[in-house]
Amino acid sequence: MTQLRAEVLVIGGGATGASAAWDAALRGFDVILVDRADLAEGTSGRFHGLLHSGGRYVVKDPLAAEECVAENAILRHTIPDTIEDTGGLFVTTPDDDPAYGDRFLEGCRATNVPVQEIPVAEALRIEPRVNPRISRAFTVADGSIDIWKAVAQLTHGAAAHGARILPYHRVLALHTGADAVTGARVRNELTGEELDIEAGFTLNASGAWAAQIVHMAGIEGIGVIPGKGIMIAMNHRLVNTVVNRCTMPSDGDILVPIRTVSVIGTTDVRAADPDDIPVLQNEVDAMLDDGERLVPGLKQARALRVWAGVRPLFQDEKSGPAAADTRAMSRTHAVVDHSERDGVGRLLTMSGGKLTTMRLMAQDLVDAMCRQLDDDRPSRTEHERPPEADGDGHHLHLGDRLRRREATLLDEQLICECELIGRGRLEETIRHNGTANLDDIRRRVRLGMGPCQGGFCMYRAAGILHGVDRLDGPAASASLMRFLQERWKGVWPILYGDQLRQARLDDWIFQGVLDVEHLPA
Ligand SMILES: Cc1cc2nc3c(=O)[nH]c(=O)nc-3n(C[C@H](O)[C@H](O)[C@H](O)COP(=O)(O)OP(=O)(O)OC[C@H]3O[C@@H](n4cnc5c(N)ncnc54)[C@H](O)[C@@H]3O)c2cc1C
Repeated sequence: MTQLRAEVLVIGGGATGASAAWDAALRGFDVILVDRADLAEGTSGRFHGLLHSGGRYVVKDPLAAEECVAENAILRHTIPDTIEDTGGLFVTTPDDDPAYGDRFLEGCRATNVPVQEIPVAEALRIEPRVNPRISRAFTVADGSIDIWKAVAQLTHGAAAHGARILPYHRVLALHTGADAVTGARVRNELTGEELDIEAGFTLNASGAWAAQIVHMAGIEGIGVIPGKGIMIAMNHRLVNTVVNRCTMPSDGDILVPIRTVSVIGTTDVRAADPDDIPVLQNEVDAMLDDGERLVPGLKQARALRVWAGVRPLFQDEKSGPAAADTRAMSRTHAVVDHSERDGVGRLLTMSGGKLTTMRLMAQDLVDAMCRQLDDDRPSRTEHERPPEADGDGHHLHLGDRLRRREATLLDEQLICECELIGRGRLEETIRHNGTANLDDIRRRVRLGMGPCQGGFCMYRAAGILHGVDRLDGPAASASLMRFLQERWKGVWPILYGDQLRQARLDDWIFQGVLDVEHLPA
């Protein structure tokens, strides 16, 4: 069996794990990161897209608000081109208590969240689709963040400092000896090969799956509560600013413009199993109704896709009984020291937190490891940019792709019309990432994420995969089928109006013209 050795093993390749690998590698540790799937395929790739200003938490969870305001500023500096500086609005709709606005302002002042109350007419000038019956409006520094790009920058940065990044490597068992974790047995999910990793220290950044990982070291009862939320992507930017209802956090109260779409979300209910988070029809209906309160007419817009993610909320039984309502749980994070809690050394778990605070979470996790190792190398992630981040500090801009595309308009084929992906970019991504999975490619370049949901681009992409020699015919066909099945899961709960017509058209293309179900296997 292949044996690998590292000073630090990071389990989980979401926002937290990628940030931890970057932090530890930058301090000079020899790091291996493993994820059972593609990077950011867990909760991080299924979140709402919001870089929090902190405004959402100023009344209910001031510590989380303070963390967000600081980390928002740091990420804008270190990974600027993954962030769109949309700005944010908090608005009081007719369904909200106008007095909450005063508590909100007070909370912003107490937690240093920059805020300004503006006239309603000004808010409606900025966002003409917002409910004209709002009675108050406040501006904050919300943004949106492309997490796939961010995780790629962080892991490539870690790799540039020697880290080995191993997606599709599932932890099967933790090795334990003399009251400490000494590494893990992992399986390459693509080849079936098993490997042994000997690690000086193990950082558990597996989010909502954290309890499953520590269970492998005989640790029970760790209070990571999976909190499910659903979101719906609408097919264009109904707003260009993040729009929040000015109220205590509740369902369907934020609309986030991200890239070419806007996303309404979310819900928060306890899930028994982080791998079993179905989207229910009543949740979809309620979410669209909630969206109407913010932007009347939202339901008439075309809903592209619905999906669910699962928060790793932390409420340790050893620190008190778990709250019945997942909304009531704090959004701050906690490092669980298993030597103190369970008598198992060289293992730490990160739990709770937000994507916005991923850098701070990673810093706290690696600091805790350093304290145990009596190592005084400090974190450098507050100021250092990963090598691929834009050195000029430019933020992501909606028009960037179109501008690049226009420069090469006559030179190359357009493969994905919705997301403006040319053939060269796609081929380069396939070669560079060495992946044969169309869903992985979707995450890298947003292939198939527009209104046709892959209807026009996916058969072309499957042909290109075949053409650049990564896949033989049957394997390319299987990859296409897998992609279509995955997309279908997110489309069927919102099949009405134009998206229903689109689904029929896609069906005619794939079943009627290409007969995909009977392609040679
Ligand atoms: C509906 C919803 C909306 C949200 N919206 C926002 C938002 O707008 N802004 C914000 O700041 N935060 C938001 N959050 C919170 C944020 O998404 C999470 O806090 C964050 O993504 C967690 O990242 P993570 O890396 O800890 O977990 P994950 O991204 O889930 O990463 C854990 C990884 O561990 C891997 N793993 C599991 N088991 C194994 C194993 N056996 N072996 C190897 N790997 C394994 C998984 O594949 C996964 O990739 C939202 C959360 C939800 C659920």
